[in-house]
Amino acid sequence: MKKFLPYYRYLKPVLLPFIGGILLGLLYGVSSGFGLPMMIHYVFPKIFADGGGTALGTAELLLYVILLPSIFLLRGLSSFFNSILFAYSGAKVLEAIRLDVFRKIQMLQLDFFSRNTTGDLLTRITGDTGNLKSIIIDLSNDLIKKPITLISAMGALVYLSFKNQEVIFLLFIFASIPICVFTIRKIGRKLLIRSRKALRLSSELTNVLTENFLAAKDVRAFCLEEAQTSKLGLLIERLIRLEMKTVKYGNFLSPMIEIISAIGVSVTLFFAYKKGIGLEIFIPLVSALYFSYNPIKGLGAIHNRLKSGQASLERLEFILDYPLSVPDPKEPLSLPARSVRGNVKFENVHFAYLEEPTLKNVSFSVESGTTLALVGSSGAGKTTIANLLLRFYDVNAGRITIDGKDLRDFTKQDLRRNIAYVSQEPFLFNDTIYNNILYGDLDASSEAVYAAARNAYANEFIQSQPDGWQTVIGDRGGSLSGGQRQRIAIARAFLRNAPILILDEATSALDAESESIIQKALEKLVQNRTVFIIAHRFSTIRLANRILVLNRGEAVAQGVHEKLYQSCTIYKNLYDRQKFE
Ligand code: ADP
Repeated sequence: MKKFLPYYRYLKPVLLPFIGGILLGLLYGVSSGFGLPMMIHYVFPKIFADGGGTALGTAELLLYVILLPSIFLLRGLSSFFNSILFAYSGAKVLEAIRLDVFRKIQMLQLDFFSRNTTGDLLTRITGDTGNLKSIIIDLSNDLIKKPITLISAMGALVYLSFKNQEVIFLLFIFASIPICVFTIRKIGRKLLIRSRKALRLSSELTNVLTENFLAAKDVRAFCLEEAQTSKLGLLIERLIRLEMKTVKYGNFLSPMIEIISAIGVSVTLFFAYKKGIGLEIFIPLVSALYFSYNPIKGLGAIHNRLKSGQASLERLEFILDYPLSVPDPKEPLSLPARSVRGNVKFENVHFAYLEEPTLKNVSFSVESGTTLALVGSSGAGKTTIANLLLRFYDVNAGRITIDGKDLRDFTKQDLRRNIAYVSQEPFLFNDTIYNNILYGDLDASSEAVYAAARNAYANEFIQSQPDGWQTVIGDRGGSLSGGQRQRIAIARAFLRNAPILILDEATSALDAESESIIQKALEKLVQNRTVFIIAHRFSTIRLANRILVLNRGEAVAQGVHEKLYQSCTIYKNLYDRQKFE
């Protein structure tokens, strides 16, 4: 239990409903365990005092028999509102835990995603957070409600046993069973509809999460962390509203049945009195026994839940305590968006993802406004150079500077606001085409979005879509062709209008027409920017002022095409191999 204590801080914003819930739980416990048996014990003798039939007037008799359902009503109301308040506090606590875990994941570097599978992360953020919430809220509720009911009922039992003898009691209570079955079925149907809706919404939520994890690179490069978090927050809010309805129906059932049974008992009692049957001693005993049984059952389950909750907590703390290996500086230098001139320098950079070095003593510089093509066989380290420039990872030795200042002197967000990144397979969100371009700069005007699309030659095909700009692109952009997806990504980069551009050229082959349109768009895009082209094919190197040849993590040569073709065998081989493919 001690391990959970720090997490009780999540109760702070919902302290009032939580305490209200506890007080109602106490009322429920005492009214069930003690109130009911004692009331029965004191009211019955009045009714059956002289063998029944004549001593009480009908009005007085009615007053006494109404007391029983009234106590059930009090008990039912306290149980109902106790559950509602706890469900509300629980949902809010769960929202806070989930957003905290999600926020932490937004801060984490990319190696976290290669070390952990998406499915596992999803379970942690959906299932395990629920278990932690359950410990904080439901278990606290049970730990108060159940023992109090038990103690009260035991008290009543001991008290009554001293005074009375045990007799078997049979009641016409079964008469109320068909009514209960009817109610259960009716509420059950409503519950089913609500639960289905809740499940659909949950899968939407899982979808947003999956997208976010798959788009980890793009989200960081376009600084979409906060936007993604609030998108999730909105969905959780909708789910809370739906869950509140489900919880209301779910918790309506048990008190309803009890009230119905109580009315049944009252009717029975009424007739029992009229017929002169003396059952006054036994009902309180039977009810006290019933009210002891239920909490004992509940208390047994608490231990198991604590154990499974502990496992969930460990899984969540794995994320919450995960070290940040690419931290922001304590006192970052200011770097407004689009403010850098764009002189980039790699100075003796060493880097390894794991043990094996990936970049070895790499040095080169790119002048502001010029384009550098990174060339080398697959695995040579081209993408790694982009990853380091975007600070997805930090160098192990050496440094990277922009306008003479070390990258690590800026916050990651400030740095990335100065960079536009077109990845090899740009991630498109399951959202409208308009919004997909807007992700390049969330503050951009609609004119700017349209202009960006025109620059990327995407205007025409967007307008010919069924809903034009408002067409929702299927999951991960599935409803568009490769060339169209590329142009949306290029439009995004135009909108971002950053002084530094990283272009991870698409490896998948495009048809000749798409290829020439994209080349035209890129020619415009690279103008007046510092550009890094990760060239997987040689068609793009004509955009470059200079070419850097990488081989097994080393920068082996740099220069213009003609010169390299003459002087660098590695480059010549690469070029010739591709030309004759
Ligand atoms: P290129 O872009 O030139 O094809 P990369 O920069 O992607 O090459 O990769 C360089 C080397 O680093 C390769 O050997 C690759 O296997 C390795 N590598 C790339 N990404 C990771 C990663 N996330 N974890 C471990 N190794 C990686």
